Amino acid sequence: MDPAIREANDRMPGYDEARIAPRALATEAVHAGRDDLARQGLHAPPIDLSTTYPSYDSRGEAARIDAFATTGAEPDGPPVYGRLGNPTVARFETALARLEGTEAAVAFASGMAALSAVLLVRASMGLRHVVAVRPLYGCSDHLLTAGLLGSEVTWTDPAGIEEALRPDTGLVMVESPANPTLAELDLRAVAHACGSVPLLADNTFATPVLQRPAEQGARLVLHSATKYLGGHGDVMAGVVACDEEFAGRLRQVRFATGGVLHPLAGYLLLRGLSTLPVRVRAASATAAELAGRLAADPRVARVHYPRIGGAMIAFEVHGDPHEVIAGVDLITPAVSLGSVDTLIQHPASISHRIVDADDRRGAGVSDRLLRMSVGLEDVEDLWADLDAALERAQGATAGRGAPAAAVGN
Ligand SMILES: *Cc1c(COP(=O)(O)O)cnc(C)c1O
Repeated sequence: MDPAIREANDRMPGYDEARIAPRALATEAVHAGRDDLARQGLHAPPIDLSTTYPSYDSRGEAARIDAFATTGAEPDGPPVYGRLGNPTVARFETALARLEGTEAAVAFASGMAALSAVLLVRASMGLRHVVAVRPLYGCSDHLLTAGLLGSEVTWTDPAGIEEALRPDTGLVMVESPANPTLAELDLRAVAHACGSVPLLADNTFATPVLQRPAEQGARLVLHSATKYLGGHGDVMAGVVACDEEFAGRLRQVRFATGGVLHPLAGYLLLRGLSTLPVRVRAASATAAELAGRLAADPRVARVHYPRIGGAMIAFEVHGDPHEVIAGVDLITPAVSLGSVDTLIQHPASISHRIVDADDRRGAGVSDRLLRMSVGLEDVEDLWADLDAALERAQGATAGRGAPAAAVGN
């Protein structure tokens, strides 16, 4: 077994539900959120598409809604309305909380909806100031910089966090490894610098298989579940793993603003989680091999591959990066990541286009940078495709044009 996975398994925390013994990560990935099924005579989790739920007890409904308005806790008993909670989505939330080692998780319609809910929770408490470290995912950067939700951001480096905190600071936000440069930071040290201000760590790139930020002091762990958690490029979702108190506030914001996850998406995510450790392990092994070959290749100027591993590679070529994108065939030239198939994109053109060019470059996102999400294909097939695309880029720079046979399309 891969040492990173072995270590992750060894570090899985125990669970307070007395019935369930502490289980390894691989076991949780398959069973969490499904523990009641067999006793109900079910195998696959049911997809509950109801938007509303009948009840002849309106006094009881009133009490449940009052309780939700007070604490944001999941209403006891049968669900009330789809925007308050959904049983299929709740299974995914339970499973993700187990994997991240948090008390709770709250799912949203996308990663950006999840981040918006966090900002709204803090703003509603009068804590509008955010301290953030670049780079972040392009749209996260944009949401903070543009102040679309009334927040005000101070950008700093990890060493400057403590000094940047103000009485109205409601959040510190980081990504590690960061999108798209794969820059890493010491989450434990950052969490320490935050003091009592909640640290939000975007764990989209690492997944709980490689890193559990809550164990290192992050109060909020955010995922674009669109990426590795779903894992097949066919579901958009976001989720925040956190303590029950913050989860209650997030559920209240979700109820009031409506960024709910569709139950079918909840089903697909739960299904995706069951293969998450296997997918991440396999894709990471291939990515490590490709990163090594890229680093040794004279056509490549720089390679960034995280210390903690993973399936993402960032690299810069001597040639024209646009020609690499135009030259892939097996690899799909597309934004997004974390799918079973390999994707490559040019952050300065797509994922981080919305960030001001100077800010983008200042964060280490050069105009030459390419970001590749390695999937589950055979490593030699991927290398052959990359090799042809690199040759084309090199040829374009040398003014020779790429020979058709080498382009592969
Ligand atoms: C994609 C992404 C997001 C945004 O998620 P969506 O599901 O696209 O809304 C946030 N953070 C990171 C690191 C991402 O890669």
